[in-house]
Amino acid sequence: MNERQIIDHIAALTDQKDARLIKGIGDDCAVVEKDGRLVWLLTMDTVIEGVHFDLAFHPPEQLGRKVVSVNVSDIGAMGGRPVFALLSVGMPKTFDPAWFQAFARGLAAGCREYGCLLIGGDTVASPQGFNCTLTVIGEAMAERVIYRSGARPGNTVWVSGALGLAAAGLELLRRQLDDAGDGFGPLLARHLHPTARVELGRRLGESGLVHAMMDLSDGLATDLAHLCKQSGVGARIAAWDLPIPPALVEAARLVGADPEQWAIGGGEDYELLFTAPAEAHDRLLELGRQCGLAITPVGTVVEGEGVILLRRRADGTCEERGIAYQGFDHFRERAGD
Ligand code: ADP
Ligand code: MG
Repeated sequence: MNERQIIDHIAALTDQKDARLIKGIGDDCAVVEKDGRLVWLLTMDTVIEGVHFDLAFHPPEQLGRKVVSVNVSDIGAMGGRPVFALLSVGMPKTFDPAWFQAFARGLAAGCREYGCLLIGGDTVASPQGFNCTLTVIGEAMAERVIYRSGARPGNTVWVSGALGLAAAGLELLRRQLDDAGDGFGPLLARHLHPTARVELGRRLGESGLVHAMMDLSDGLATDLAHLCKQSGVGARIAAWDLPIPPALVEAARLVGADPEQWAIGGGEDYELLFTAPAEAHDRLLELGRQCGLAITPVGTVVEGEGVILLRRRADGTCEERGIAYQGFDHFRERAGD
């Protein structure tokens, strides 16, 4: 079973029926009625030592803030704003108090930065390594929430920021190449200190221009496949339009990686992926400018299913390749599957 099959299995065992539940399993957040006008948005994410971060190079203060960023990213992806948080920490009995205090400082600063209040949690000993789960509760105007399921054929596919930066930054840190290039700062920062696009997400929600939205946690290839599946559509992505900065190409050259593969398969960028009708193009660009963030059209929503990457050959013809679900999956390499 891979990650998707595990979640589908759990979803199939629960009927997800309650008059107040607007959206259960399957989107960035669960959506629950609050009053006639507002909804609650609920999301949870876990970080595990050795899976999401390496103690050898992840400063604890930055890790604390990152835990908040990766969670509020899902609130932003629905067009909402974070309000409350609940924290669960598991640590070996041998934990270093100074390390933990720095982690807690970063976490508290992250909560302040995104405007959410820590209101509870749980604290346990962990036999192996540090792990932490944050639940974030947000709110949004009911009619402004953007779901993964709203993409329609003809929509343009957009992404915010640049793609593949976190994957590149992690690889540089793993290989102790973080000092190897002048332009690598943004790559390292995307892994160590990502900023969730909450303001952009909220503005996109308010604009009424966007049909479907999610955040990019597992890479474009997997996350766009999720969005397409929820919407009952397919997508075609133009490789030449992917926002790949020169520093990413330079880092890829240094470690013998493929920058395009980082851009479509690298996880943890926490950028926003959204679709909108073609006529919204100029107004969206203006909205991105107002938020101080580049947003880039990278493809088109089509009838059917799957995600196709188009690439130009040297002779001018186009090559097409299916890339659905080729991003990060926690259980993909499980033995025996
Ligand atoms: P995201 O990357 O946006 O955090 P995930 O891929 O982790 O989303 O999860 C996709 C959906 O599946 C979400 O609605 C999430 O709440 C749900 N989900 C994930 N794991 C579980 C689980 N163990 N039990 C119930 N729901 C889950
Ligand atoms: Mg998400």
